[in-house]
Amino acid sequence: MTVPSTPTAPLPGAPFVSYRDGQLMVEGVLLSDLAHRHGTPLFVYSKAAILAALAAYQRGLAGRQALICYAMKANSSLAILKLLADAGCGFDIVSAGELERALAVGATPSQIVFSGVGKTRQEMRRALEAGVGCFNIESLAELDVLSEVAVSVGALAPISIRVNPNVDARTHPYISTGLKGNKFGIAHEQALAAYRHAARLPGLRVVGIDCHIGSQITEAAPYLEAMERVLDLVTAIEAAGIPIQHIDFGGGLGIDYNGDTPPAADALWRQLLARLDARGFGDRRILLEPGRSLVGNAGVCVTEVLFLKPGEQKNFCIVDAAMNDLPRPALYEAFHRIVPLTESGGANDAVTYDVVGPVCESGDWLGRDRALKVQAGDRLAVLSAGAYCMSMASNYNTRPRAAEVLVDGDSARLVREREAVQDLWRGESV
Ligand SMILES: *Cc1c(COP(=O)(O)O)cnc(C)c1O
Repeated sequence: MTVPSTPTAPLPGAPFVSYRDGQLMVEGVLLSDLAHRHGTPLFVYSKAAILAALAAYQRGLAGRQALICYAMKANSSLAILKLLADAGCGFDIVSAGELERALAVGATPSQIVFSGVGKTRQEMRRALEAGVGCFNIESLAELDVLSEVAVSVGALAPISIRVNPNVDARTHPYISTGLKGNKFGIAHEQALAAYRHAARLPGLRVVGIDCHIGSQITEAAPYLEAMERVLDLVTAIEAAGIPIQHIDFGGGLGIDYNGDTPPAADALWRQLLARLDARGFGDRRILLEPGRSLVGNAGVCVTEVLFLKPGEQKNFCIVDAAMNDLPRPALYEAFHRIVPLTESGGANDAVTYDVVGPVCESGDWLGRDRALKVQAGDRLAVLSAGAYCMSMASNYNTRPRAAEVLVDGDSARLVREREAVQDLWRGESV
């Protein structure tokens, strides 16, 4: 009789992933069972990890009038949205498609904020009709158009202006958004004039101010800097007779991909709110828009080794997941830890591989120079795959998108079927 052993400590950057008897589990579920049942590539998410990440924010905001609007572009699968809606989250959306997803899981429309630099008139109309809580406006032209659209449907659009505080989030240039050279937001220097303009437009009602300085931020300093600059603006805007009811500090908090040490959400927000109080704005409603930090470390992608291909300069480990499933390495040279589903013991005879997918692009790699002890047919887990993976997945090379499973304790539920090849040419004609 085998004695069930206790799991080892969770893996770094994967708080609910651990080995038990040498087998990798998410919470109480064996990943190899899930892979056997549902095939690979397969995304698996831990409900407990998502709720724990949310709880850290909730602790940090305890006692405040605050709303956490999950930035659903990080992972917009309905099961995850439902989980977060039930846990009290609103949503930060960036398209009418995301609005429909939020409404499909029963989100409260007034708890939805609509961000993005390029909202169409049609999207504005649909969001007004649904009754979203706030439009986060990113340009003067957008103010005018939204006012026009609102007047045409007899609505008053609640708005905040996304200001660009010109703060360096010290993150990858592709995910830094708070600097002058970015397409996002209205420059700090023009923000007051933009608010005066907005206050005069007939279809708009100013309700807040908003900023979002980037993503995968691993220090508190950029947040503090941005907060000071936003509060300077609130002072100036209110002096001009325009009250600001809520302050939206965006998202952007980083996660541990490769030994990164971002501040914990509760500690960060306690620190930031202390500063907010010190400046006399403690009474304002706070909105946050976290995406990655709620779901990123809660997901893994399970993949199967197809072939090992030794080479003169490089050894390749070719797996069945690719850049269409996990686009972050190709897009940002991002690092994801990759571990075997069956613990391989001593790393002595490990071989260094580039882990690559089957897509016909040299950019199709998932990890470079990884020491692994693997054979064809073995399975691997790509960690920290909960954010900006499935939501960025494509059908490049006519590859159906992966299936998704949500784990809750000892049970697992398929929450998205693997796409069928026939789905991929729906709507096409010869
Ligand atoms: C992407 C985005 C977020 C979320 O960013 P994370 O780094 O995933 O937390 C929040 N607000 C806006 C406006 C965004 O574009």
